[in-house]
Amino acid sequence: MRKGVAFVLATCVLGLAALVARPGPVVRWLARRYPDVLFRLETEAPHVALTIDDSPHPEITPGILDVLAEHGAHATFFVIGDYVPGNEEIVRRMVAEGHELGNHLMSDAPSHRLPVAEFERQLLQTHELLAPYGPVRWCRPGHGWFNRRMLGQLHRHGYRCAMASAYSLEVRPTSARYAARHILLNARPGAVIVLHDGVGTGRQTVAVLRRVLPDLRRRGYRVATLSELAEAERLPQGDGSSPAPATPAPPRSSNPAP
Ligand SMILES: [Zn+2]
Repeated sequence: MRKGVAFVLATCVLGLAALVARPGPVVRWLARRYPDVLFRLETEAPHVALTIDDSPHPEITPGILDVLAEHGAHATFFVIGDYVPGNEEIVRRMVAEGHELGNHLMSDAPSHRLPVAEFERQLLQTHELLAPYGPVRWCRPGHGWFNRRMLGQLHRHGYRCAMASAYSLEVRPTSARYAARHILLNARPGAVIVLHDGVGTGRQTVAVLRRVLPDLRRRGYRVATLSELAEAERLPQGDGSSPAPATPAPPRSSNPAP
């Protein structure tokens, strides 16, 4: 192998290893580059946000809701519009138990491949489905892909794009123990944790939460929705003499303009 190729390969492998083990520096760099996007919140308060993607699922979501209730934890569920019909009772239960709904568009597909008009159509259609249940202000594009054009569309409709800072690597064939360890390694004040619902990895999510939630509680963390975490960021810490940081994009709770 040529020396140059080996160097590039080694750099890529080391970079990937750093990202997998400790995504912190990459997340900080992305957050600076895309200030409109929420990766984590600036707070010293012992709060983390929990987000669950690809909900609801008739067999999996109730188990996730049960374990959250057992541990007094709240989450923002990123709901796929196509999954709502037939699962209305589960969506209602989410809101009734203090969780928050987020917009994950109509299908589980990479959003950056959608034509401009189709992205907007799916955003609004999913919003129409969710708005009757409660305020919807966060969007996580499909497969976590976003670009500046999509950010503009979200902003126009009163949404803010939400990504995450603590991943479980559960899309890979890892054990619940390993996934939980990886989340706990990256849990710090203001972190946004992401896990998945559904038959693929959702079954493991319950096992991961059973490991993560008691540990976070022992460490003094409150597990909250994105909006609860954003609220904590706005509250002055300490003696309250420091100015409150800038607030996120204004949320909307009504239907977006057609
Ligand atoms: Zn998804």
